[in-house]
Amino acid sequence: MAYRKRPCSICHKWFLPDARQQGRQRTCGPACRKELHRRQCAALNKKNKADYTNNYLAKKIEMALAQPPPPSEQRTKPTLPIDVIVTECGIKPAVIVQYLVGRIMDHTRNNTPRPP
Ligand SMILES: [Zn+2]
Repeated sequence: MAYRKRPCSICHKWFLPDARQQGRQRTCGPACRKELHRRQCAALNKKNKADYTNNYLAKKIEMALAQPPPPSEQRTKPTLPIDVIVTECGIKPAVIVQYLVGRIMDHTRNNTPRPP
């Protein structure tokens, strides 16, 4: 195959790839290569977001079952009656409730418009 110019996958300018890359080089320079890497990582993180979330919660439950932290360290804002939840339902639901409240608070905090 002839060694020829190709368009950059980021800025779409034509460039001459490095001869040693042999058809693998997709970007014209370091700035575009960095942007391509950033986009690929963002796409991968978006694709695997559900898996990461499930793994995080499963690990948290596993840790709580192995060694329950003292009630004073389990406090989140707003303060949950975590002792009551643990005694009535067990440690697993307590961890799940704590996680869900944290997610809702993050979502609310990030999506509430700030006053000017
Ligand atoms: Zn480029």
